Amino acid sequence: MNLYIDARIPEKTPVIIGDRSVPPTSPQKTYPTPMQFPEASGNFSIGLQADWQKRDTVNNEHKTAYDSVVIHNRLLNAAEILAEYEKVIPPVKKEPARPHFSVIPAVAEHVSVDGNPAEECWQKSGKFFLLPLKSSRDIAISAQAMHDRENLYLSFVSGDSCQLRKYDQRDAKLWEDSCFEFHLQTPDNNYYQFIVNGNGTIYDSLNKDAAWNSSARAAATLHDGSWSVELAVPLAELGGYDALSAANSTADFCASTWDSLAYQLFHWGSSRGFAPHDEIRLGKDEQYFRIESLGDLRLGNLSLETSGSSKAKVEASILPEGYSPIVYPENLNNRIWERRLPAGRQRLQVEAQGLYFYSHEYTVNFPLEIRHNCRPDNNEIEVSLDLSNAGGEALQQVAATASGRVQLLSPEERVLSEREFSISTPLAKVILPFPAEPLTEGVYSIHAEVLEFSRSISLQIPDLAPYQEHLGVDHTIPPPWEPIQKLTGNQYQVWGRVYEFADAPLPVQITAGDSQLLSRPPSWQLNGQEPQWMAPKIEESHPDYVKFAGAGTIGDQRIDWTGELWFDGAYVLRFTLSAGAVQNFNISWQVPREFAKFVLNPLYVPWEGDQVVPGDTARKDNVIWLTGPEKGIFFWHQSDANFFPQKNPLRAVRDERTATASVNIISQPATFTAPAGYTMVFMGTPSRPAREDSRMINYGGYSRIATTHQSIAWGGFHPKRHKDDMISLNSFIPVDPEYFQGLDTKIVRRHIYAMPCMISDAHPAYDYFGQDNWSTPRKTHQGVKLGVPWTVDAFCMNASERPADLQCWEIDQTMRRYPGVNGIYFDVASTGYCENQHHGCGGIDALGQHYRSSNALGYRRFLLRIYKIVKKNQGSIMLHSHVQFMPMTQAFVDFFAPGENTFQTMATNLEHGYCEGISLEEYQSDFNWRKAGVTYCMLLQTGRAAGMIPALKQYEKEVLSDPKYAYSALTPMLQHDLNVWGHYVS
Ligand SMILES: [Zn+2]
Repeated sequence: MNLYIDARIPEKTPVIIGDRSVPPTSPQKTYPTPMQFPEASGNFSIGLQADWQKRDTVNNEHKTAYDSVVIHNRLLNAAEILAEYEKVIPPVKKEPARPHFSVIPAVAEHVSVDGNPAEECWQKSGKFFLLPLKSSRDIAISAQAMHDRENLYLSFVSGDSCQLRKYDQRDAKLWEDSCFEFHLQTPDNNYYQFIVNGNGTIYDSLNKDAAWNSSARAAATLHDGSWSVELAVPLAELGGYDALSAANSTADFCASTWDSLAYQLFHWGSSRGFAPHDEIRLGKDEQYFRIESLGDLRLGNLSLETSGSSKAKVEASILPEGYSPIVYPENLNNRIWERRLPAGRQRLQVEAQGLYFYSHEYTVNFPLEIRHNCRPDNNEIEVSLDLSNAGGEALQQVAATASGRVQLLSPEERVLSEREFSISTPLAKVILPFPAEPLTEGVYSIHAEVLEFSRSISLQIPDLAPYQEHLGVDHTIPPPWEPIQKLTGNQYQVWGRVYEFADAPLPVQITAGDSQLLSRPPSWQLNGQEPQWMAPKIEESHPDYVKFAGAGTIGDQRIDWTGELWFDGAYVLRFTLSAGAVQNFNISWQVPREFAKFVLNPLYVPWEGDQVVPGDTARKDNVIWLTGPEKGIFFWHQSDANFFPQKNPLRAVRDERTATASVNIISQPATFTAPAGYTMVFMGTPSRPAREDSRMINYGGYSRIATTHQSIAWGGFHPKRHKDDMISLNSFIPVDPEYFQGLDTKIVRRHIYAMPCMISDAHPAYDYFGQDNWSTPRKTHQGVKLGVPWTVDAFCMNASERPADLQCWEIDQTMRRYPGVNGIYFDVASTGYCENQHHGCGGIDALGQHYRSSNALGYRRFLLRIYKIVKKNQGSIMLHSHVQFMPMTQAFVDFFAPGENTFQTMATNLEHGYCEGISLEEYQSDFNWRKAGVTYCMLLQTGRAAGMIPALKQYEKEVLSDPKYAYSALTPMLQHDLNVWGHYVS
């Protein structure tokens, strides 16, 4: 579905405005299933349903008014929508177009007039695109011009064969042949016309008198599929170099070609015929500017490539009719601006001060749209075709079945794979297999043809080394952890803790230092009884994990389980409950009360009397973490699949000496018709020691305050080039290696900004990853860099290892190459959920209930790999995730940045928010790094709240200069032993 506003598909709007996120504008939306239209006699509503409008909760003021509703029996295309719109709102009367202008540069080199503009100096001449004036065909035709103070040199090239060349007599009717023309009106008002045909014959006239003959020389070269001409005219015969360089002349460069039915006419000028209307002037030196290519504007593919001498200052913009301009933010000289254009009428405008001006109006229409979805695991590419914008006649042909083909073309345009298809709906998908020979790095293309339409889009295949090397997938143990050690009996030692196992799936005791974390082993109650557990087997044993497998039975029912104990103490339990009727099923464990002072989800949830139901909090993380100020037991389950009922299965109760956590899997009778699977993590915390230099860490962004660590490379969000830009946001490969080579290594350690497992469509690997592994619902970030919109997509961490392969590989390359880079700053780094069943995420469980899946285990795998690579390179990682610290996942970092969650607290109490707005219990739990084993660096919000809340803006200066704000913010941080960033508090 496309939304047009004033006959135009609007640009996407930002999703963050100021400090708030706003609903995204999605003017184009593809629905996964076809629309079900009502019967001819049925009814449907637009907007709020009629019976809803009667509710008193609906504000009458919010009703929408419709001027006119028209229903067509087919889709209208962009041009038709514009035509309909202009019947009501006529197009604005346009100002007379500003004429094009180009300086014709001087060159020193010798030019031989042989019809072949091969001399190198042509590359620095003026260039003129000849676009259709009256033509049913698109032919690439251009002209070039330069001078040497004695002669004016012109060349023309046509991307079509020379179809007709009857004449070979001077001043014959060459316009009847395929020919090129040059019209010139000089400052002294003389009008010259030159025509050259495929025989190299010249027609010339002065003030329309063909009896005048110049001493111009011309030659033509004919090829199969193209032809070219060179023409040299003595400047003395055109009024002389001095006159032509002192003032502008008007001119036009033209071509006409006979295709056996009609003449097709092309020219550079902006007038309605071949006429000297636009301006040129001879340059006094070699300064030049030219457009090398425009792209395919009518199909919305801008590819504006320019070249010019070093001093040229070039501004380029797209002016969509009635909308704000799209402006290239920097000097476009010697660069390419490639982007997809919106549908509708618009104008391209390019200006190089004093050298060049060009503007071109066109209408973008998308009759055939195609999209690729690469599936490297299946060795195929899914190609989606969309003809819904092709217009009524085409849609009728499609309804009666249309056939076509799609091809995969190599960078050299060789056909590597091809599929023929026939379709009877405007939306269709075709599977194109990968060729037998493996694809290598390069820009390939997908080409589709159906009816009279064709479309090509690029498909970038990246360097495949990262996906062959799988960095960080091994059994090594990163510091500060140690390999797992088997002690006597069933005891295993990991850093700081000993896990003891019996026959049951969960450990029966976890000892942390001199504390026993369990006061009673976990109890499994299936229909009120503990199953009979068989002695488990050890299936795998590695330095980083040990895998057990076992089973238990009770009556007809059976639980088959595997458990992996990891070096960080995370115990990953997977089990299957056999089909059958279940009355109740729960797992519970008991801890001494000192290890249950706080309940986290993973945010602090206060005890209500002697009970906590953490699922009642707004953020539901399938977590119950009972902890003291330091030690505790963390539990997580991957999803609500096969829980019944699904609401609030986790709870804790306490008495004077102990606290009991329970996982209520089945609390009302349920019958499983198929085996039910569960995935959980159980671990003693903290899982690691904090860094010994924790209190010495002073974290910052680009800050004037001295810091030990800094995050850099935020420039990815800015429209202009920034010195520390990566090749795309979230990549670790710098655009400017020299800048990174020059970073000092003495003062601060620098972390490159990135979002975990999120890849930009500006990255060479994005196409190859396809869309199947995006998180569902899709999570994106958007912006514009150098005039090109980019989108970052979150890939599901449960689904694919490729984004991890890539980010591991890139950070390894960069840390090895640039000693000034010390690691990563991860933003947008909280755990989340996915519902894509292709990933094994979410779906319908064995009881027919909908569920979604947490990515915490996939994220754990991701972060562990990255952490190994960063540690191998002696670096560190900062992770920013408000206060939602997940020990099974986010302990694989060095620093954790809470605090952005206190923005609101500070916005309502700017002076004393940190003393009065955060409870002692929150400081001792949410903001307590001891439970995490990771150094916390608090992002104070005092200055940020003052700067961003309009009503507080007046205090911003005071906040940053009066020390009382700093004292008030820093006092509780000192008291609770929390590092702070050197931001927002002076
Ligand atoms: Zn997923």
